[in-house]
Amino acid sequence: MALPEGFLQELKDRNDMTDVASAYVNLNRRGRNMVGLCPFHGEKTPSFNIYPENGSFYCFGCGVGGDVITFIMKIENLDYIDAVKFLAQRAGMNMPEDTFDDSMSNLRKRIFEANREAARFFYKNLYSEVGREGLEYFHGRALTDKTIRRFGLGYADSNRYSLCGHLKKLGFKNSEIVSANLAFQNRNGGISDRFNDRVMFPIIDLRGNVIAFGGRIMTNQKPKYLNTSDTPVFKKSANLFSLNNAKSSGERSLILCEGYMDVIAVNQAGFPNAVATLGTALTQEQALLMKRYADEVIICYDSDEAGQKATARAITFLRNAGLNIKVINIPQGKDPDEFLRNKGENGHDAFKNVIEGSGNDIEYRLNKLRLNFNLKEAEGRVAYLTEAAKILASLDNTIEQDVYISKLCKELEVSPDAVKQQMRKFSRKKYYDKRRENFRNMRQNLNGINDKVNTERYKKPRVTTAEEGIIAYILKNPDKLQRVEEQLPAEKFQTEFNRNLYVYFSERIKNNLDALASVSGDFTQEETAKIYHIANSDYARMANDKTAAENIRVINDEYSRLKVSDAANASMDDIAEELRRLKDSRK
Ligand SMILES: [Zn+2]
Repeated sequence: MALPEGFLQELKDRNDMTDVASAYVNLNRRGRNMVGLCPFHGEKTPSFNIYPENGSFYCFGCGVGGDVITFIMKIENLDYIDAVKFLAQRAGMNMPEDTFDDSMSNLRKRIFEANREAARFFYKNLYSEVGREGLEYFHGRALTDKTIRRFGLGYADSNRYSLCGHLKKLGFKNSEIVSANLAFQNRNGGISDRFNDRVMFPIIDLRGNVIAFGGRIMTNQKPKYLNTSDTPVFKKSANLFSLNNAKSSGERSLILCEGYMDVIAVNQAGFPNAVATLGTALTQEQALLMKRYADEVIICYDSDEAGQKATARAITFLRNAGLNIKVINIPQGKDPDEFLRNKGENGHDAFKNVIEGSGNDIEYRLNKLRLNFNLKEAEGRVAYLTEAAKILASLDNTIEQDVYISKLCKELEVSPDAVKQQMRKFSRKKYYDKRRENFRNMRQNLNGINDKVNTERYKKPRVTTAEEGIIAYILKNPDKLQRVEEQLPAEKFQTEFNRNLYVYFSERIKNNLDALASVSGDFTQEETAKIYHIANSDYARMANDKTAAENIRVINDEYSRLKVSDAANASMDDIAEELRRLKDSRK
């Protein structure tokens, strides 16, 4: 990626890692670094670290790491060039022109434009003859024209070429329309519309771009709902419907609904903070996305079996993300759309009452559990107590535990000791399970089984670690590079990934460039994370002249040992091949 070095350096200087991250993460100082709860995985104790010294971050929980560009790529779901643009804009800088391959960035721009035109097209349809059925549907569901406009709802008619034809007239290429997933390629080489006979719900991101559509069929055909598949601008599992409205409402709580119509009905009733997933079950990624804009999520799913299953699943992910949870129970088992329609004018107040009367996730789970037991009999009470203790043992907060223990005691007329005794059993089991898991992870990390980037580590763990020690050392002490190189030429590195890093950093240092400045552009996200792990973790902390000398010795010893055993075993052919390989690697 050929962005000028000077530009990259300025971009990083003007987008301080800590400043940028603190817009998304609560950070606290720890020594020279900053720590916070990782925005990329659910956790309760902070393992997300920022290193102001070299403008980077690394999470010891999930292994994500990189520089400020990597951070924006991940948190804003952008590719490299768009993340650079994002940061350039943030710092009021102009992008250098024509210095890099812009084709992906251009395609994304075209997709946004095609989507916007499609949304306009669908909206216009809705208020013309072809869309009459769609408009009747929305009006029948009590949506006002104001709401329809606010959400940009529309209609895709039954003509399979109408949108394609319209977009082509506006100058869009077939390939762009297909990339946007607005059409698909026919066998005869032409294209035809993806959405037909459907009312359309545009999905809009936080910057106001139309990134995708959901469409509900007006006939009896299947599927009832059809959504845009993943495209270069849209990832279904990482977006939420109407998050743009929820975010601008400024509320720190979100109402999680099951579908588009629920969100729109709840919104129309005066709750702009309603959101929904996009035709799939809630993912951990979406829960973390919510955590960025809210402290509390109110789950508002249907009370049928599917809805209850979805609720249980959502509770797990939302808890993992560290969100407070409430679960709404709509009277008479209605969905929110239907409930609000029945209440008419009084919808807002009625729904507000429902929210205020809703319990948190623990109460919800205990209530569900209680239904399975006959509490009038001693046996039923004991069985219920045992299961309830499992739920309470899973809570990390002891104050919260105490609240439920006293509730349970009152309800079952048992002593708190009985409940606590049950809970201890499960807590102990949980503790041992956790310890076993930690131990397994530790062992796998030590053996390098988990190292997906340097896949040779498991074969040569000791020498791989020594190599990483040397890389950390030259990153920390670029002035010592020449001395290291004299004792340790690149070909002595035995794992390919580390050898490449060594060569890459040596060249940058010799050219007086910041060694790390373009890592996020030159390596994949996983490799970048690995590199910043080397640059920031124990390797870096322990990198001094003494450990460097020891590491050089380890690598050299291993190299000679291999040479000796190779020479003893190898035929002449192998030796010739080996010499050729060595020569090549010096080029
Ligand atoms: Zn993490």
